[in-house]
Amino acid sequence: MLRNDQLDQWDRENFFHPSTHLAQHARGESPTRVVRTGSGCHIEDRDGTRLLDAFAGLYCVNVGYGRSEIAEAIAEQARELAYYHAYVGHGTEAAITLSKMVLDRAPDHMSKVYFGLSGSDANETNIKLIWYYNNIRGLPEKKKIISRWRGYHGSGLMTGSLTGLELFHKKFDLPLAQVIHTEAPYYFRRADRGQSEAAFTAHCVAELEALIEREGADTIAAFIGEPVLGTGGIVPPPAGYWAAIQEVLARHDILLIADEVVTGFGRLGTMFGSEHYGLKPDLITIAKGLTSAYAPLSGSIVSEKMWKVLEQGTDENGPIGHGWTYSAHPIGAAAGVANLQLIDTLNLVPNAGETGAYLNRTMTEALAAHPHVGEVRGEGMLCAVEFVKDRDDRVFFDAGDKVGPQIAAKLLEQDQIIARAMPQGDILGFAPPFCLSREEADRIVAGTVRAVEAVL
Ligand code: PLP
Repeated sequence: MLRNDQLDQWDRENFFHPSTHLAQHARGESPTRVVRTGSGCHIEDRDGTRLLDAFAGLYCVNVGYGRSEIAEAIAEQARELAYYHAYVGHGTEAAITLSKMVLDRAPDHMSKVYFGLSGSDANETNIKLIWYYNNIRGLPEKKKIISRWRGYHGSGLMTGSLTGLELFHKKFDLPLAQVIHTEAPYYFRRADRGQSEAAFTAHCVAELEALIEREGADTIAAFIGEPVLGTGGIVPPPAGYWAAIQEVLARHDILLIADEVVTGFGRLGTMFGSEHYGLKPDLITIAKGLTSAYAPLSGSIVSEKMWKVLEQGTDENGPIGHGWTYSAHPIGAAAGVANLQLIDTLNLVPNAGETGAYLNRTMTEALAAHPHVGEVRGEGMLCAVEFVKDRDDRVFFDAGDKVGPQIAAKLLEQDQIIARAMPQGDILGFAPPFCLSREEADRIVAGTVRAVEAVL
């Protein structure tokens, strides 16, 4: 094993970390925690420090760490056949089996799944399929995509544009022109004092209608949204939101992409968030929970309605010109098969619902009355605490106050618990693995209370 100082030097000198302050890292001001092992909800670093991971990596290790069933499936696939492509006339048993398992779990009107590698590339695929679809339908002007401020859909050129967080646009010349944003359905921040959720939903719907009117429905192809806003602050929708939005989209012949990278495969206590909120999407994006991050794999699940037009397109134009070398990689597919089997055998979807509800309830009881806690909110195994300067007068912290990062750092230091300071700075997010026990949930809540009291 390498000496720590050697590893640190190589890390500083060679490794370009994602989403990182590059200069601080190169100067050694933000040392890297080198993670060595993991088991259940815990990881352990090279110094032997054991941490309770209340964010499941990047809300992706849904079945928990150290699952030998998935490790063995990966090893067996690598020994038998590490790679073969899925281009015309070829495939592997793992990928075909996984396609069946995904469709068995997806809403009934979905028809096929295209496998990629990351949530970002799956959303790129979705946009290409939508443009292709409208070209085949003879609607070449209908191309713009509506996304929401605070939505997160990846960090490629198109997907970074869809993402509604300034950090992902700044100095990258994004968003691209085909992307337009509407406001977030963020009741806590945006509703008027005393406004009901239903009235706020009507306001969000009116904003969407106004945007469609301004841009022209004949120029708009699709709307993309996460069932629960994730990276933008873990914000469940207000009452009636998805039903009302879908009604508007249907009226204007605008497709719906449900980005279920976080919510797919159980995080809300149902197999898909679409099921939870009664969505009938034309495309569903899946990634993280598909393999619980044991191997990189993503997917675009395509509805029957779109599939018919895609088929017609290839009859008219020949094979569809869209593929990655690693589309449907057999090692990722083997991990996916073993992961979905494990989710079923261990009843992890109901556990995500039940233990997630327990975590949300106990967090609310412990913190909702705190003068600097504006809101505790969540759904299933997603929970967020939003901090405010003054609760009664609704005075918010500035991003520069860095309250979220300070509390996350304190939680780590005092109780060895990992939570995530969400990018806007004043929200602490929790998204533990689905195998979380009530005792572990109790530790997270007690630790968070201590950290909040130490900082605020
Ligand atoms: N969509 C959502 C809702 C996400 O949360 C993420 C990542 O966090 C992505 C897409 C992008 O996935 P990836 O990071 O695998 O490209």
